[in-house]
Amino acid sequence: MRNVRAFPLVLPALLSAYAALAAPPAVSPEVKRVLDAADVKRIDADLRFLADDALEGRGTGQKGGRLAALYLEARFRLLGLVPGATKDEYLQEVPLVGVETQPQSQLVITTGDKKFEARWLDDYVANSRTEKDQEEIDAPLVFAGYGIVAPEYRWDDFKGEDVRGKVLVMLVNDPPSDDPALFGGKALTYYGRWTYKYESAARAGAAGAILIHTDESAGDGWNVVRNSWGRETPFVALGPGSPRPLPIASWVTESFGRAVLTAAGQDFDALRTAAASRDFHPVALPLRVQARLVSRIRPIVTWNVIGLLPGRDPKLRDQAVVYTAHYDHLGRGNPEDGDDIYNGAQDNASGVATLLETARLYTLLPNPPRRSILFIACAAEEGGLRGSEYYAGHPVV
Ligand SMILES: [Zn+2]
Repeated sequence: MRNVRAFPLVLPALLSAYAALAAPPAVSPEVKRVLDAADVKRIDADLRFLADDALEGRGTGQKGGRLAALYLEARFRLLGLVPGATKDEYLQEVPLVGVETQPQSQLVITTGDKKFEARWLDDYVANSRTEKDQEEIDAPLVFAGYGIVAPEYRWDDFKGEDVRGKVLVMLVNDPPSDDPALFGGKALTYYGRWTYKYESAARAGAAGAILIHTDESAGDGWNVVRNSWGRETPFVALGPGSPRPLPIASWVTESFGRAVLTAAGQDFDALRTAAASRDFHPVALPLRVQARLVSRIRPIVTWNVIGLLPGRDPKLRDQAVVYTAHYDHLGRGNPEDGDDIYNGAQDNASGVATLLETARLYTLLPNPPRRSILFIACAAEEGGLRGSEYYAGHPVV
């Protein structure tokens, strides 16, 4: 009985303590009204338009990409956002160079008297970042593990080894870890992304990088790599301040990689195990790569679309909170079942449609926030985050 009597006194206290922990931060009634105005039908409408065949998959340097940028400009204008690229423009011009590796390119790996000719798209994909129409490489191969230099994790796969002029064979993804303090545990950090591997190889002065694809580490099957590389890839046009470009960036299939390593007396799984350790040291392989990349090169102009909601506080409005989503997708490309349009409804028409609805909600606030809010629909993400890369070098706030 005593317990039962006490219970009603304790429970409400517990419940309110729990409620205080679980409740979202209090929002003012005005903000609540705005949040409640979020309308999934509007997101759906933008998504349907952007992912329609008429937009041809919003390819960078293709007609559909231009149409998508103009549509987003019109939407920002109608929402009453201020032009964000310049005083009177929403479109930030992003100068790119399109590089399309031609099928007559060659990539041959030799060891002793054994010779492995990689077949374009079936065994390898590659491009050159020097923006030249011909690039030839004849270099020794070095296995560089994950190719990571991360002082904050006390990780350095190079250990001071001079890899200049060599071609690095690397693994994608982060070294396996369950510890959130080491490469975010199960989460994928930027060190794990293929874009980082090529940047890292370029910084080390390498002549090239070959990533070995495995379905589980890349997160996608070979057909995804093949589709996105067997076509034109955009790069930010090289200029005086540009970092050194990598002469050859490549992926090979797991089976090709394994065969070549086996011929060199190495075992892929043993190398991968060694690479998972902090003590890993680059492994010189008794292999040479001869590559000749023939590329079709053309200048491309595309646009980041930028809308601004000016902050209300004169002291803080020079700072901005950025909402961003990329609007490009793969455009038109190799047909699959007779269909050559890569619509990209989820990747990333859904993201831009949500960005537009987020922007609309901000415009409904009775008072804008103290800091400015920037809405950036970025271009050329699929080719390696080129629009974001350009924006980071040319911010408007
Ligand atoms: Zn994407």
